[in-house]
Amino acid sequence: MIELRGLRYRYRQGPELAFPDLTVPGGGSLVLRGASGSGKSTLLALVAGLLTPAAGQVRVDGVDVGALPPRKRDAWRGRTLGFLPQRLHLSDSLDVHANVALALWAGGAAVDAAAVEQVLGRLGVAELLRRRPHELSVGQAQRVALARALVRRPALLLADEPTASLDDEAALAVVQALRQAAQDGGAALVVATHDERAVRALGPEAQQVRLP
Ligand code: ADP
Ligand code: MG
Repeated sequence: MIELRGLRYRYRQGPELAFPDLTVPGGGSLVLRGASGSGKSTLLALVAGLLTPAAGQVRVDGVDVGALPPRKRDAWRGRTLGFLPQRLHLSDSLDVHANVALALWAGGAAVDAAAVEQVLGRLGVAELLRRRPHELSVGQAQRVALARALVRRPALLLADEPTASLDDEAALAVVQALRQAAQDGGAALVVATHDERAVRALGPEAQQVRLP
C-alpha cells in the first residue's frame, strides 16, 4: 500500500529532513512517533502529495505520488485519501452535513445526502447534522472532521496528532473510531502522534516508526 524509499524533504527556510524507508501493507496500520519538530506532519504531507519530495519516492498502491502532475495529484488524493488534519479546518459558515458533503463536492463526486448521514451515524454524531462547528465540543468536531475524511471511502487514512487537546476518554474514543473506520473500509491507517495514549490505543498490531 505505502512504500517510502530514500525520502527527503527540504523547507526553503528550514531543515533538510530524511525519512526512514518503510512499507505499510494494505489494511495495515502505522504509528509515526517522534518529538515535536521531528517531521511527522511533513511526512504525512509527503504521503498525501501535498508536498513534493526533494529526493526519493512515496508510492501508494504503486503510484509514485510525487511524480504526479498537480491536477492528477488532486484527483488521486480525492479518490484515495482521507486526511484528519491536526487543525480541523471545518467551515463555520456551513452546518455539519454541508461540511461533510463538501468533501464529496470538492472531490467531484455526487453529493449523496444518505452517504453523509450514514458516515455521521457510524461515528455517533448523526443528531448533530444541522449544527455549526462552533456549536460542537472538541471531540464532536473531530468526529465530524473524521466523517469528512471517510465519506469518500478512502483506501488510505492519515491522521495528524488526533488526540492532542483531548481528555483521556475522548482520546481513546477517537483512536478507536480511526481503527474501526480503517477496518470497516479495509483502509491503511497512518497516525502521527507523540502521545503515548494514542500509541497504546492503536494496539500491538500497529507498526511503529520513530523519527529521530
Ligand atoms: P512534527 O509534525 O513532528 O512536529 P514538522 O513536520 O511539523 O514536525 O516539522 C519538521 C521540521 O520542519 C521542524 O524543524 C519544523 O520547524 C520545520 N518546518 C515545518 N514546516 C515548515 C515550514 N513551512 N517552513 C520551514 N520549516 C518548517
Ligand atoms: Mg506535527
